[in-house]
Amino acid sequence: MATSAPHVNGAQDLKDDTPSPHFADLSLSSKTVHADDFLNKGQDVAPPLHVSTTFRYNKDPDQLRKWTELDLNTPYEGHIYSRHTAPNTTRFEAILSNILKGPAISYTSGLSAFHALLVFLNPKQISIGDGYHGCHGVIDIHAKLTGLKKLDLDCPAEELQAGDIIHIETPLNPTGTAYNLKAFADKAHSRGAFLTVDATFGPPPLQDPFLWGADVIMHSGTKYIGGHSDMLCGILAINPKRKAWYQGMVKERLHLGNVMGNMEGWLGVRSLRTLELRVKTQSVNAQVLVSWMHNALNSEAADTAAIRRVLQKIEHASLQAEDIKDGWLSKQMSGGYGPVFAITMKEERFARRLPSKLELFHHATSLGGVESLIEWRTMTDPSVDTKLLRISVGIEGWEDLAHDLLQAFTSLAAEVEEK
Ligand SMILES: *Cc1c(COP(=O)(O)O)cnc(C)c1O
Repeated sequence: MATSAPHVNGAQDLKDDTPSPHFADLSLSSKTVHADDFLNKGQDVAPPLHVSTTFRYNKDPDQLRKWTELDLNTPYEGHIYSRHTAPNTTRFEAILSNILKGPAISYTSGLSAFHALLVFLNPKQISIGDGYHGCHGVIDIHAKLTGLKKLDLDCPAEELQAGDIIHIETPLNPTGTAYNLKAFADKAHSRGAFLTVDATFGPPPLQDPFLWGADVIMHSGTKYIGGHSDMLCGILAINPKRKAWYQGMVKERLHLGNVMGNMEGWLGVRSLRTLELRVKTQSVNAQVLVSWMHNALNSEAADTAAIRRVLQKIEHASLQAEDIKDGWLSKQMSGGYGPVFAITMKEERFARRLPSKLELFHHATSLGGVESLIEWRTMTDPSVDTKLLRISVGIEGWEDLAHDLLQAFTSLAAEVEEK
């Protein structure tokens, strides 16, 4: 007789095999490389890709436990059907729960995670500013079904009611500037409302929104978590103070069916291994490039005259930080500022033409991958200035990126002079 396989419904050999508690003290990279070790049951060093949608029950009839008897708060009890849990996404979530510091659930995309959040909390009102236009599309659909009402981000606290949401995207799309999370958490909680944070532009190790009072952290994992422009993913991490929400959200995901595919879960673990290396490099690269361009705008040096001829302004949290007197920004983004920033050109035609002159930046939407991207943002977001370009800095050498930008500005300025 074959012995019962591991990973079966309520498998006993997984019972004591929970994440090692001392992992909480490890560095970010040690966690992203090892936080799923307890789920590694075979001899594999690299995680295998599991494609099965369904999983055998325990061979021992006495061990069989019905769905209703399972503790859904324990995600590592073995798998039943992949619309509920599956091995690759479970390993991915084990790492995410560890590094985001609250139980994490993955979804098919960032927008499906945001949708799941609205469905679960079902607020009557949501206080929200600009930011990713797709989230406003989700709110419109949800409002059609529930009558959800939008409030301005800076609405008076008195307008908020218990159960409402303040939803902050920080750093903000497309400019990379940041919000004071503590101030918004205090405002929400003073009314019995919740703070939900779209932290896509500031993944670990840049910021930890739970430290400042966030109730839920959302990520489009398509961006820095995936990091290689090859997987769609959404993530919700729940503040441990609200961990009762976890079970409810997992249950609703089972019925909404918005689970990640196995391939994406597998890619996600592969990606998380290098999260800290990638994000730190991207953050430093962005800060150096922003400061180089900012200095060029404010200098009279001949070698950067082309930049001043075509470029109007630069926006990024590192520039914003200089103006903040009480220092909340450097405290809340203690790991570095986000790797996305925006430049506004002097004329719309400059914004249209600059991307084609660059060799190391792809002209494409999205962000967070190892490769640098630039986007004439009006291509996908009608709400932004048509002179604005959004830049997502990759892991290339920053000197190479600066050199490429300078040659593109120079070529654009020369073209302008000819006309
Ligand atoms: C991309 C993005 C989203 C949407 O994520 P998808 O994975 O594309 O669905 C939401 N918020 C922000 C800030 C984003 O950049």
